[in-house]
Amino acid sequence: MPDASHPVRRLKLFWEKTSAGALDGLYPRLCRHCEVPLSAEAPRQGIAAWLCTACQGELVPVESPYCEVCGEPFSGAMTRAFKCTNCTGRRIAFDFAVAGYKAEGPLRELIHHFKYGRDLSMRAALTELLLPALRDPRLASEELNQWLLVPVPLHFIREIWRGFNQSWELCRQISQQTGIPTAQILRRRVRTRTQVRLERKTRLANLRGAFALRRPFLGASLPDLRGKNIFLVDDVLTTGATAHECAKVLKGSAGVEKVVVLTAARG
Ligand SMILES: [Zn+2]
Ligand SMILES: [Zn+2]
Repeated sequence: MPDASHPVRRLKLFWEKTSAGALDGLYPRLCRHCEVPLSAEAPRQGIAAWLCTACQGELVPVESPYCEVCGEPFSGAMTRAFKCTNCTGRRIAFDFAVAGYKAEGPLRELIHHFKYGRDLSMRAALTELLLPALRDPRLASEELNQWLLVPVPLHFIREIWRGFNQSWELCRQISQQTGIPTAQILRRRVRTRTQVRLERKTRLANLRGAFALRRPFLGASLPDLRGKNIFLVDDVLTTGATAHECAKVLKGSAGVEKVVVLTAARG
């Protein structure tokens, strides 16, 4: 705990309080979903910095029952583990996917601001929504610090255009809060069109061969991944086609043992 009685610290606290308050007076912060002004006391970090209390209440956590592979929530009652119709009879390269919240309403909008509005300051809020996914019972007995957080890569042209890779930003935030190490292992070889409006089948065909392991760079080799467990991190999981292709590369030549997909939202 920093010493609040230290004069420099006191001055800093005073400045933070008055400058933040003054800015709120001039430009009140608005809820990113319904645009009502946020209270001046609203935190400046995390989900409460972006959504009013009512809109926070509209966030829907992904709760059991959900598909044991892709994490698709199921609205009925279900007492046993089950696979959804999408996953039944299909070979899926990742072990399973977990997500914090459903990609609906306010969360869909936050992700849009983060990615397409290039609003990097939203990463802490999305990390807050992602972290509950780590409480999945299947991870309870795992030594998570032995796992690696690996981002879904962007094609380098898209990354330059956007200014950051949202998956890598989430990895770094999760790592800060959990101590799980990160590694950028994958690269995107092919620049695919935005996949948002495409059917699952078309997405899969588009993505085939789109990912590969990174090449050693300036003499630095890749970490040894044989037998490793990996969290493949992204902002949102929709059809799972991207995650499947990434997991194929990780489990193929890299010899990774387990790949669990970790996202803030489930589409
Ligand atoms: Zn609101
Ligand atoms: Zn499924």
